[in-house]
Amino acid sequence: MGVPSLGCRCRVCKSTDPHDNRTRPSVLLSRNGRHAVIDTTPDFRQQALRMGLERLDAVLLTHGHADHILGFDDIRPFNLRQKCALPLYASEETFNILRRTFAYVFDESPALSAIPQVTLHEVKGPFRVLDTEVAPVPARHGGIGVLGFRFGSAAYLTDFSELPASSRHLLMGLDDLILDALRDEPHPMHQTVEQALALVAELQPQRAWFTHIAHDLPHHETNERLRKAGHSHVQLAFDGMTLEVHI
Ligand SMILES: [Zn+2]
Ligand SMILES: [Zn+2]
Ligand SMILES: [Zn+2]
Repeated sequence: MGVPSLGCRCRVCKSTDPHDNRTRPSVLLSRNGRHAVIDTTPDFRQQALRMGLERLDAVLLTHGHADHILGFDDIRPFNLRQKCALPLYASEETFNILRRTFAYVFDESPALSAIPQVTLHEVKGPFRVLDTEVAPVPARHGGIGVLGFRFGSAAYLTDFSELPASSRHLLMGLDDLILDALRDEPHPMHQTVEQALALVAELQPQRAWFTHIAHDLPHHETNERLRKAGHSHVQLAFDGMTLEVHI
C-alpha cells in the first residue's frame, strides 16, 4: 500500500525519516546507459522522475498484482521518445492479468491516442536484457506464481510465501539477495522477518536486503534490531537505494 499508508497515524507513517517513506517496490537495472525496470508500480512515474530516467529498454514483471503493474501505462513516453515497442518479460499467468487489466492495450481496437507498445516475451528460462543473462526464480505467492530474477551476483525476490527447492539452487553464491519481508505478523502471501531470516541463513548471501516492507517496521529501529540479533549483513532496503552488481 506504500508508507505512509493512507489515513494511518502510526509512528512509522508519521515518521519524518525519509527511509520510512516507501513507494511500491520495484528495481531499475542499469548497464552502459541502458535501463530495464522490474515491475511498473502505481508509483512508476514518480520513481522514474526521481531517478531522472531518460530511456527505458525493457520491462520485467514479477506477477500481476495491482501494486506491481498499475503504472504500466506510464511507459508511453519512452515508446514515443524512442519510437519503438519495449520488450516485456513475464509469465503467461501475468500476461493474462495484464490483458484483462489493460484491455485497451491488447484488444487491437483502433487507438486515437498513444497506448503502451510492448512485445511480449514469455519467460520460460534464462533470457538476456541489457546484454546480461537474467535467470527467472519461480516462487509461490499465496495462490499465484511469482518470478524472482537473478542477474549476476544479485537476485530480487519480492512477494512470495514459498520458495520451492528447485529454485533454491538458483540463489546460491549471491553477493546481494533482495527479498520479501513484509512484517513480523504472519501473512498468507508474504514472508515475515523471521521467515526471511531463516531463508537468508540457508542461502548464505553476503548481504540481504528486505523489501515490500509494510508500515509495521520502522527503518532504523528494525535495522538496529537485526544488528543486535547478529544479522548485521541483513538490512531493510529503502527507496533510492543503489547497489553495484557483478555480472
Ligand atoms: Zn501506519
Ligand atoms: Zn503480490
Ligand atoms: Zn506486492
